[in-house]
Amino acid sequence: MTSKENKSQSSAAGIVESRVSKAIRDISPYSVPAIDSKIKLDGNESPFGLPDEVRVKVDNSIKEVLINRYPDPEAEKLIGLIAKVTDFSKEGILLGNGSDELIGMLVTTLANGTGKILCPTPTFSMFKLTSVAMGADVVEVPLDDNFDLDLESMLSVIENDDPDLIFLASPNNPTGNMYNAGKIAEIINVSKGVVVVDEAYSDFSGYTFLPLVKECENLVILRTLSKVGFAGLRVGMLFARDDLTAEINKVRYPYNINALSQAVAEVVLGEHEFVSENIQLIIRERERVYKAMSSLEGIAAYPTDANFIFFKAQDADLLFRELVARDILIRNFNKPGRLKNCMRVTIGTLEENDAFLAALDEILSP
Ligand code: PMP
Repeated sequence: MTSKENKSQSSAAGIVESRVSKAIRDISPYSVPAIDSKIKLDGNESPFGLPDEVRVKVDNSIKEVLINRYPDPEAEKLIGLIAKVTDFSKEGILLGNGSDELIGMLVTTLANGTGKILCPTPTFSMFKLTSVAMGADVVEVPLDDNFDLDLESMLSVIENDDPDLIFLASPNNPTGNMYNAGKIAEIINVSKGVVVVDEAYSDFSGYTFLPLVKECENLVILRTLSKVGFAGLRVGMLFARDDLTAEINKVRYPYNINALSQAVAEVVLGEHEFVSENIQLIIRERERVYKAMSSLEGIAAYPTDANFIFFKAQDADLLFRELVARDILIRNFNKPGRLKNCMRVTIGTLEENDAFLAALDEILSP
């Protein structure tokens, strides 16, 4: 190695240590395993593509997109449509490149008081990852035995630490259950900071806190198009009071919703019949798969309000490998502690669910 190469290597290592915060160096990136399986039940996506007639409309609208131009920076038409569908004022709506981006915008805007962020655990990993990356202090409170909020412990952190932000995903990922609505309401009531109710899966629970935003200046709701058929578009939605939305909007990158996503989302939002039918189908399949899993020895499936089922296996790593060998991909959360042998399966099409259940049966039968 020449001395020049030597210098450049050591200064590269020096840069990482001297210029990247320890908080970032210590976190692991959000990882999605690169396993190519025919039956993909790991990402909480919808298994259904577009019906032919909607596909034609989408194709036609894409043809009109001027790729040489920046998209509408405010995504005004799309926000107008969302306002109509949700019966919410358009001034209170912000869009993100997935709700992932909105989580980042919330932390940037709001974690500047006490610098503390409160999350129950286990929950969606991006709450912690984003907060830590931005230098905030994350306080984690374990969920109770039913994966509901431990209200007493949450209230005690709120009283002692006065968190700037509290992230509550309801239904929660990965556990699948909604939190008790009374407990959420109490937390919103008591907290002086902002409470984010992440409703990524609320289409499958039928329950929403959206109407409460008008009354609560510290309530923010997150939703997404990702779980109901449009994960590829990367469109997340934030709902809050106008004054708060206006502040969060200042940290939004210009043109964050690309032109193709805007065009396609505008079409599909006008076509909610097939989306609602697919949601109903997933809910019916969820009940069927849950029942079948509950009757299997060696599996403990937890009740769910989302488009996936959280469960405990006897040997999650082995089960994961056996499913992959049968071309079926689910999510393995196995790690020491609360998530030991825990797994999550997304509800797929009827055929995919049948294949999953048959594989489980085969793998688990002695
Ligand atoms: N919130 C929760 C609770 C989620 O599970 C997910 C997706 N895994 C997201 C937000 C992110 O959704 P999006 O695709 O809109 O970024």
